[in-house]
Amino acid sequence: MTKIGVIGYGTIGKRVSDAVLLQNDMKLVGITGNSYNYKIEVAKKKGIKIFSADKVGEDLKKNNIYLSGNIYDLVKECDVVVDCTPKGVGQKNKETYLSYDKKAIFQGGESLEVADTSFVAQCNYNQSINKDYIRVVSCNTTGLCRTLHAVDKQYGIDNVHATIIRRAADPWDIYHGPINSIVPVLELPSHHGPDVRTVLPEFSVFTTAMTVPTTIMHVHSVTVDLKNPATDEDVIELFRNTTRIKVVRNSEKIRSTAEIIEFAKDLGRPRGDMPETCVWDKAIGTWGNKLFYLQAVHQESNVVLETIDAIRAAMGFPSAQESIKKTNESMGIN
Ligand code: NAD
Repeated sequence: MTKIGVIGYGTIGKRVSDAVLLQNDMKLVGITGNSYNYKIEVAKKKGIKIFSADKVGEDLKKNNIYLSGNIYDLVKECDVVVDCTPKGVGQKNKETYLSYDKKAIFQGGESLEVADTSFVAQCNYNQSINKDYIRVVSCNTTGLCRTLHAVDKQYGIDNVHATIIRRAADPWDIYHGPINSIVPVLELPSHHGPDVRTVLPEFSVFTTAMTVPTTIMHVHSVTVDLKNPATDEDVIELFRNTTRIKVVRNSEKIRSTAEIIEFAKDLGRPRGDMPETCVWDKAIGTWGNKLFYLQAVHQESNVVLETIDAIRAAMGFPSAQESIKKTNESMGIN
């Protein structure tokens, strides 16, 4: 049993904690609370041990949250720490993980330098086996890597251009926007292309990006120059047969991100999560050696699967395929 502590119990942290609870080879020691809120109340109801993110946890104690200790006590008890704090905080927390000689998994908001490797399980699991510090790349990078890796293995890729249409904020978030504008990222390439190359360095990837007023998923418009030609039907089949990719069908009337998430809710997925990269069947097309497709990425959940596999890699679990299978089965992904 690998003992896990989750630092930061927000969008990603609460999902990672629930996913750890589903694994038969992991034990959730506890989570950290930074300040009192409804998420901490839910952790308490679930019987998860709560540790304060600072030494004292004044705000939590004041609101009748029983503390099992502070972040240092939690880190001490764990084999692997999963840092799910906001961008940049993980880098600072690393000093604590280093001082207790603990392995740590970081999220995609952290810079590359925080970890020994960047990670997407089905692309480069083996490079992270027994590593002390692993960075699960961002939701957008994870979504791109899953489909591009499958395409590269089957047809070979010369180069890629992708446009990332980003959701403005997570659904709970009342602080960010835009609410009535499309905001281009005025930097070329956007950071996503270079980030994909930290996992898949074999071909060049150029990305552009913009933010749009939605909270429901990111959408990617992908153009790939293939080494060997493909047909639409073969690519659909390839994606159907690749783990963590879901081909969604026009005939089922799944034509939008809204319908994908409604579908996930109807399937009974916890929180209405859709961790698979969803590719629309009618938006897969070929023209000469070019392949085009449109895919949707559920920002709140896709990296959770990867985080579970990254924990196994850090602990030396030798098989990517077995880890992916265990994680998928535990979380109802087929
Ligand atoms: P979040 O704001 O929802 O949650 C962060 C949590 O960390 C909050 O509960 C906050 O109270 C807590 N926190 C803040 N400072 C802390 C500290 N010093 N010590 C301990 N806890 C602290 O953030 P998130 O969206 O879950 O993002 C976490 C990481 O995951 C980031 O690196 C982000 O880039 C990455 N990520 C986010 C998404 C997404 O769409 N939300 C997707 C993929 C990756």
